Amino acid sequence: MTPEEFRARAHQLVDWMADYLAAPGERPIVPPVLPGDIARHLPPEAPERGEDFDAIFQDFERLIVPGMTQWNHPGWFAYFPANNSPPSILGEMLTATLGAQCMSWLTSPAATELEQVTMRWLGGLLGLPEGFTGVIQDTASTATLVALLSARERATSHRAGEVGLQAAGGPPLAVYASAEAHSSVPKGVKLAGFGLEMLRSIEVDRDFALRPAALEERIRRDLGAGIRPTCVVATVGTTSSTAVDPLEPIGRICREHGIWLHVDAAYAGAAAILPERRWIFEGIGHADSLVFNPHKWLLTNFDCSAFFVRDLPTLLRTFSAAPEYLRTPHDAVVANYRDWGIQLGRRFRALKLWFVLRSYGAEGLRAMLRRHIALAAEFRASLEARAGFEVLAPSPFGLVCFRHRPAGLSGEALDGHNRALLERVNADGSVYLTHTSLGGAYALRLAVGQWRTEPADVERALRLIFSAARSLHAEAP
Ligand code: PLP
Repeated sequence: MTPEEFRARAHQLVDWMADYLAAPGERPIVPPVLPGDIARHLPPEAPERGEDFDAIFQDFERLIVPGMTQWNHPGWFAYFPANNSPPSILGEMLTATLGAQCMSWLTSPAATELEQVTMRWLGGLLGLPEGFTGVIQDTASTATLVALLSARERATSHRAGEVGLQAAGGPPLAVYASAEAHSSVPKGVKLAGFGLEMLRSIEVDRDFALRPAALEERIRRDLGAGIRPTCVVATVGTTSSTAVDPLEPIGRICREHGIWLHVDAAYAGAAAILPERRWIFEGIGHADSLVFNPHKWLLTNFDCSAFFVRDLPTLLRTFSAAPEYLRTPHDAVVANYRDWGIQLGRRFRALKLWFVLRSYGAEGLRAMLRRHIALAAEFRASLEARAGFEVLAPSPFGLVCFRHRPAGLSGEALDGHNRALLERVNADGSVYLTHTSLGGAYALRLAVGQWRTEPADVERALRLIFSAARSLHAEAP
């Protein structure tokens, strides 16, 4: 591709991108395809000869776009948002164009220094106390694994990393998290060598938040049995219902026993930039590490996960690897982010975040979060005002968990009814919700968090939910 051709194609694609963003909602949010439907139309082998760009782009429009699930859609209420925004998309374009690999300061000084600055900005916006240093990881799952590995290394004075967990001897190491913690916690516990049997699943209260008394009791029991409590993962905004584990009492327990406290605020952490939601981080001063995802609810394209750590020497000793070929003249005085996590090669993720933070300003980001929280509150109020609907958990952010509970239905029949309700609502194609299990009950989740979601989209979801409930009721035997 010549530079002139590149220029023309880039303009063509930018026009396509602007049209795509301007006209959501024409296709169903989840494409009506079956497994294998897309791959079947693609050749089994890579082309021997280069192809014409028009042909590639036509196939993109014809085969790929109709097979994409539209996370960008204003009717997206599923999971948590994986948001983006025009400034973030533009930042990603420039990252791709610069094509830098940002493993050390020398391999892209501006990328390292911009990451330091944006992480400091984020720490300030979240109101983090002094002592935390930030670094961008790809995802919250990776950040939690990084925290678990660091906790393991601190607890074994780096023997686990040096001679291996078994040879290190010493007491067995245990990790604690609520029964509502994200699946990245057991995954990390497995990968970090603790073993799933050493993950203590701590009971939650009726709002699905970890009960500190149950945590303390379990820690004391383990200590009595010669087990070393190593890490507690507290969740601020659980995946199922956005429950907030109380950091202050959990943190005090961790302090007393020298346990690493990692806070997983993957989704809800963004809300701490609102003074009226700052309470979610009460006690954060006790934490050793914290993760939250600008790629969820802060308008930044996937992937961008902000990880803050207090014990930097332990992190660096856990992840440093400096063979001769990676050494640079400034190693003693610069941040080489290859030593701050698992991967060596790193993308320039700070650029899109910088574009977002500057384009919207804290004020603009707060306005978006408040709009989403208000829309979720209105949705909740409408459900509560409607006979037969039940809200199943507190909703301090953009998520509402609920179910339809017609008289006479319970147990599996009630779960089946709500499963059918969800299917019927999603079949419309203009909104998309997902489900979870709360206290053993099948629950529907509506998460407001897409930047283009308007009141009309939430109203459409409500209408579809009410109408599906009516028609299922009418069809009941
Ligand atoms: N932690 C919580 C509480 C989450 O809700 C999620 C995802 O929804 C994750 C971790 C995992 O996030 P990531 O996809 O960035 O690994």
